[in-house]
Amino acid sequence: MKYDYLIVGAGLYGAVFAQKAKEAGKKVLVIDKRPNIAGNVYTEEMEGIHVHIYGAHIFHTNNKEVWDYITRFAEFNRFTNSPVANYKGELYSLPFNMYTFNKMWGVVTPEEAAAKIEEQKKAAGITEPKNLEEQAISLVGTDIYEKLIKGYTQKQWGRPCTELPSFIIKRLPVRLTFDNNYFNALYQGIPVGGYTKMVANLLDGVEVKLGVDYFDDKEAYDAMADKVIYTGPIDAYFDYKLGTLEYRSVRFETEVLDMPNFQGNAAVNYTDSESPYTRIIEHKWFEFGKDANGNDLPKTVISREYSSEWKLGDEPYYPVNDEKNGALYAQYKGLADKEDHIIFGGRLGEYKYYDMDAVIASALAMAAKEL
Ligand code: UDP
Repeated sequence: MKYDYLIVGAGLYGAVFAQKAKEAGKKVLVIDKRPNIAGNVYTEEMEGIHVHIYGAHIFHTNNKEVWDYITRFAEFNRFTNSPVANYKGELYSLPFNMYTFNKMWGVVTPEEAAAKIEEQKKAAGITEPKNLEEQAISLVGTDIYEKLIKGYTQKQWGRPCTELPSFIIKRLPVRLTFDNNYFNALYQGIPVGGYTKMVANLLDGVEVKLGVDYFDDKEAYDAMADKVIYTGPIDAYFDYKLGTLEYRSVRFETEVLDMPNFQGNAAVNYTDSESPYTRIIEHKWFEFGKDANGNDLPKTVISREYSSEWKLGDEPYYPVNDEKNGALYAQYKGLADKEDHIIFGGRLGEYKYYDMDAVIASALAMAAKEL
């Protein structure tokens, strides 16, 4: 045996575990089927802009341990996420706050806003929210639900809001203050120089092989190490023998535009049900429109996001954590628990709608237990 750990997947979970294992003096090999490291946080430079190739990632956390850890590998800028919602040309502030309520209803005070929400919630007759629609209405009322939630959510998940779990909408804060900061997080920012550089720093001194598929020669790879850290889809590991877990996939249409400013914000969500994309990301605004030397950039890069149902062979992005998939995952987890030389981790390995900080926390906890 050559390695203590074989890590399948060079994304955030794999890179953090690899870093901790290396630090503990273990011999580690990281493999990834993609030609690049960093999994879905991968960024690539275009026109001096770090483009988030697999979807926008904004780092945010309340976990000081995670923040202290990750800032060893990257410096973070002061980016604060405050997306704008575009409903048929009407613009609203996100997350839902006093600016949103003022624009929607003309209310001026928090008391008026709260009364408006309460009135709409009462009219809808919801006491115990059973699904995302009812949860949304009881949080912000029917007007906001209809204009800013319904279309966006149905496009993103490809399912009616009545068939989606309510927890998804709890990710979105509701505030009776004039605060456009999307995340309720103590620490927030984008790594200076891009996420790829941050992951490269995590993997510094670790052996990495790219463009190799674990499943092409699983037995040989398994024989190379005492233990395997597997961060791919858990159902793929078991050759889908109990059926496939569902994911939402995303297709990005990325364009370089010969103009300095397309939409004036990093993220604009299209919350109606007619526009085919869910949102447009203008990557330069994650870095205030400046290059590494602080100069304004003449061009811009935008990505339109199209949400789609995942099928075998597509990139999985969002686990669909509904009842049916939860039950199937539990069965796979049962199989996984019986394998003693392998650890399943990360968004795909644990089939969990993880944010980056939670992935790091989970990898750190696993490393503490293992090492
Ligand atoms: N959401 C919405 N309208 C928006 C933005 C988000 O209804 O303009 C809802 C939608 O159901 C989505 C959930 O909030 O699935 C979580 O959104 P978030 O932006 O946190 O998703 P992510 O950034 O992970 O794609």
